[in-house]
Amino acid sequence: MDAADMGRDLERVLISEDELQAKIKEIAGKIDADYAGKDLLIVGVLKGAVMIMADLARALRIPVEMDWMAVSSYGAGTRSSGVVRVLKDLDTDIAGRHVLLVEDIIDSGLTLSWLAHNMRSRNPASVEICAAVRKPDAVKVPIDVKYVGFDIPNEFVIGYGLDYAERYRNLPFIGTLAPHVYGGGTE
Ligand code: 5GP
Repeated sequence: MDAADMGRDLERVLISEDELQAKIKEIAGKIDADYAGKDLLIVGVLKGAVMIMADLARALRIPVEMDWMAVSSYGAGTRSSGVVRVLKDLDTDIAGRHVLLVEDIIDSGLTLSWLAHNMRSRNPASVEICAAVRKPDAVKVPIDVKYVGFDIPNEFVIGYGLDYAERYRNLPFIGTLAPHVYGGGTE
């Protein structure tokens, strides 16, 4: 696949690279203020949070530690089941620490709700959530997200860490897929 293929596979750009970068800087400013003088651990949820973690960490001015969790939340289909399997746990003991969970997207919210609950059972000083995008119309469980980049329509999106069959994560913007990619068109 080359750049032209990536372009053809895209239906439309929902959030541009400039908009994403500006928003991440704005969120970083809030985190700097909220956690000034505190010992903060940011936890990225693999693989989707790689982009936002890298941008957010570089935009922060307070010292932070970074750790990663990998979970699988989807079964065979494309809907979150709520059953979460831990593929990689934290390397860090979070007891007494301030934890900020960083995710690419909140769709049903089931994954993050499970993760937040799992983190809280480890007796941290606090657990908050940050996500690049959220689909308000898809959210199934009440979930308190302290920092959210953008609310988006209930459509399948790619880019900025988000994949379709492991592709498109490296797009620097968030967009929707052309129907021919997932079998919805004639091309
Ligand atoms: P949730 O548990 O909130 O339904 O979503 C769990 C995971 O599903 C997200 O972390 C993300 O990996 C994946 N996901 C949900 N919606 C989308 C989407 O629109 N595009 C992509 N590429 N992944 C999604």
